[in-house]
Amino acid sequence: MTTKRTIRVSSSRTKKSSGSARVDEILSRLQTLNPSPQCELYYETPYQLLLSVVLSAQATDKSVNGTMTELYKKGLSVDDVIAMGEKGFLEKIRRIGLAPTKAKNSIKLSHIIKDKFNGVIPSTREGLESLPGVGRKTANVVLGEIFKQPTIAVDTHVFRVTKRLGLHSCPTPEKAELKLLEVINPKWLPMAHHWFILHGRYTCIARSPKCEACVLNDLCNSKDKTNRLKKGGLL
Ligand code: SF4
Repeated sequence: MTTKRTIRVSSSRTKKSSGSARVDEILSRLQTLNPSPQCELYYETPYQLLLSVVLSAQATDKSVNGTMTELYKKGLSVDDVIAMGEKGFLEKIRRIGLAPTKAKNSIKLSHIIKDKFNGVIPSTREGLESLPGVGRKTANVVLGEIFKQPTIAVDTHVFRVTKRLGLHSCPTPEKAELKLLEVINPKWLPMAHHWFILHGRYTCIARSPKCEACVLNDLCNSKDKTNRLKKGGLL
């Protein structure tokens, strides 16, 4: 289960929230590449998105979509998951990593949504983070994707790409999130999350970033870029 923490947003956020011209340029270029990025997790209802984000912890979106898409198209609801019970739901999600823990959390979470929130996904961070298996990152994804709040969920791609671009030098995603909220103009939120993820998945890849083809090449001072270009004989 994701560790829950309370994180205070620094008061400096207000002072710096206009963001720098360089950060605006980075996001403007990513926006031009992909004006309307979509969440890569398939869902038809807010509950289904929440469930998929919980199931995607330490698993790929592809594996979650592969397991859940057909169930979602048939209208999988809170009541359906409760009716399956832990054992029945585990059978459905067995191919996803950490399935036993996720099945347990999904059943508990579904009961709480039905009993405490009248079957409706909570729209507040506090409400979301009170659910089993829902940590800050999951809450941020739901708040941004469903409720269009100015959040940024920092997953492994967002963390790596923004670090390479010098938007933060933080040791943890939690600290990076707070720094990013300071330096990114709120007008780019919550879409910045999608742009950095896509950039990290398809261009600024962990082991071998495609710096030669990167639209942010001239804005990036990462040592990974330097190493990559040297290796390719381009420096
Ligand atoms: S230049 Fe390379 S390291 Fe920098 S953002 Fe682009 S792909 Fe990533």
